[in-house]
Amino acid sequence: MSDRGRPARFAQPEHTVIVGAGVAGGTAALTLRSEGYQGRITLIGAEPHGPYRRPPLSKEVLRGTVKSERIRLKPDAYWGEHGIELRTGTSVTSLDTDTATIALAGGETLGYRTLILATGSNPRELREAVGVPGVHYLRSLHSATALAAALADHGAVTVIGGGLVGLEIAASARALGCPVSVLEAADRPMSRVLPAWLADPLSALHWSRGVEIHTGVAVQRIERHPRRGDYTVSASDGRAWNAATVVAAVGTVPETALASAAGLLVADGIVVDEYGRTSASGVFAAGDAANLPDTLHGGRHRGEHWNEAMEQGAAVAKTIAGTLTPYPRLPWSWSDQHGVTIQVCGRPDLGTEYEVHGDPGACDASVVFRRRDRVVGVAAMNRPAEFRALRQLALAAQR
Ligand SMILES: Cc1cc2nc3c(=O)[nH]c(=O)nc-3n(C[C@H](O)[C@H](O)[C@H](O)COP(=O)(O)OP(=O)(O)OC[C@H]3O[C@@H](n4cnc5c(N)ncnc54)[C@H](O)[C@@H]3O)c2cc1C
Repeated sequence: MSDRGRPARFAQPEHTVIVGAGVAGGTAALTLRSEGYQGRITLIGAEPHGPYRRPPLSKEVLRGTVKSERIRLKPDAYWGEHGIELRTGTSVTSLDTDTATIALAGGETLGYRTLILATGSNPRELREAVGVPGVHYLRSLHSATALAAALADHGAVTVIGGGLVGLEIAASARALGCPVSVLEAADRPMSRVLPAWLADPLSALHWSRGVEIHTGVAVQRIERHPRRGDYTVSASDGRAWNAATVVAAVGTVPETALASAAGLLVADGIVVDEYGRTSASGVFAAGDAANLPDTLHGGRHRGEHWNEAMEQGAAVAKTIAGTLTPYPRLPWSWSDQHGVTIQVCGRPDLGTEYEVHGDPGACDASVVFRRRDRVVGVAAMNRPAEFRALRQLALAAQR
């Protein structure tokens, strides 16, 4: 604190620093400008490129149907033209909330009046893969390029994890002609987001396209053949799969190192209030890295989806620009697998009553999930227009 009891950040010029040049950070920067924010904006990202769309990494990028330049959020020149200083290939190594400064790798320090932590998340490391060379994880364009190169050999692929990203990788690898097995610990894939009667047809779709989905698999060991370079993945019940390529897709962990070291409150993400404010004055967090209150259903929530990260970045920027804006309360996400679009909003897992339209068995359906007569979630397969309408219904139910 300064002498007069004002936080040191007010001694800094009007400057918003955004750590993390993903969709949350990039959207926050763009929204600050579109909301008329007059101060300096610096957007800092560790990756060598400016903000880009991650969802195509497991889809078009793996299949080689889109070039990496096409997934950028904005052309490189756009940021500077809009008064946003984009610093790529730059890691922020520490944060000092007493002096309102951050340090960059290389030793430079920067002062901020307002800081947004949009540091995203990283793939959860699979314990059994530690020390096994060449096991793939998918998060960045760099990792997608490496995995795409491995798939180009058309060898057998074992994907460990049957969540959204794991199944998309499986579908893409299969489309490239690779034999694919998915190993899932739970009794069905995508069990965190879909009820059995939607997950089962999805599973059947994968099998029909040649992707083998094995459930109830506790991976015990991954061995790499020293000469041939291929792998054997063994389960605790004695089953085993041979593969040329192994991919681990077992969820994400929020990137909170900076926040923790600076003494901010962290619990499965950087803890924020409904306006994205962290426990430190002038410091906000948004996107995969943030853990926010679920003001609709109680408890707390950390999003891991594109639209949530984008909308959170925008909401935080509006608050900083002067219009107190809570995070949107009804997150939604989508996935594309074998040409079927799956869309989910709200919290279907809380539903106790269901209203089904269409034919889930044919992956052509929408479902409204209710709890005590209140809509808590919507899921749809290949019904985008219906999903949009039902999502409005769900939004209306929250008001
Ligand atoms: C393969 C894949 C497919 C996906 N598909 C879908 C989908 O179909 N639908 C959907 O809804 N969601 C999907 N998602 C999820 C969605 O992409 C993420 O939720 C979203 O990208 C999160 O955005 P973010 O800005 O919070 O974080 P990120 O996109 O992770 O960006 C954070 C950035 O911060 C940088 N950073 C971290 N720490 C520092 C530091 N100290 N200094 C400087 N920079 C730092 C990181 O390098 C990173 O570039 C997918 C994700 C992946 C990986």
